[in-house]
Amino acid sequence: MSRIEPSMSPDTAFFWEGVAQGRLLVQRCGGCDALRHPPRPMCPACNSLAWDPYETTGRGQVYSFVMPRHPRYPGFDDPHIAVLVELEEGLRLVSNLGEVEPEDVTIGMPVEVFYATFEGGIVLPQFRPAAPT
Ligand SMILES: [Zn+2]
Repeated sequence: MSRIEPSMSPDTAFFWEGVAQGRLLVQRCGGCDALRHPPRPMCPACNSLAWDPYETTGRGQVYSFVMPRHPRYPGFDDPHIAVLVELEEGLRLVSNLGEVEPEDVTIGMPVEVFYATFEGGIVLPQFRPAAPT
């Protein structure tokens, strides 16, 4: 499968460097410690420009999901599952859900991140049902 290479900017480079190391990083505000994702320069809570990377557990639950049918997306399975994951840290992020049959997906289902390598060596964080703890 192929995927479009993610765009990288000074604000998002840390996220993709983390993915390359198998770490799911978000921003932690240097002013008020609030976590935020997706990456952006300024804290929406206190307007601080200071932040540092914070490593999440990569675990969370399905907040919502959809299976786009039309138009087809090149490089994606049909159907594929676009998922909004709520991480344990309370942040939400959009990804894809794999290693599960579409009819088995439920809201609130525990999921964990994994890192999938696509054509051209592109590595993207994806989610799958969480292994029992
Ligand atoms: Zn802040």
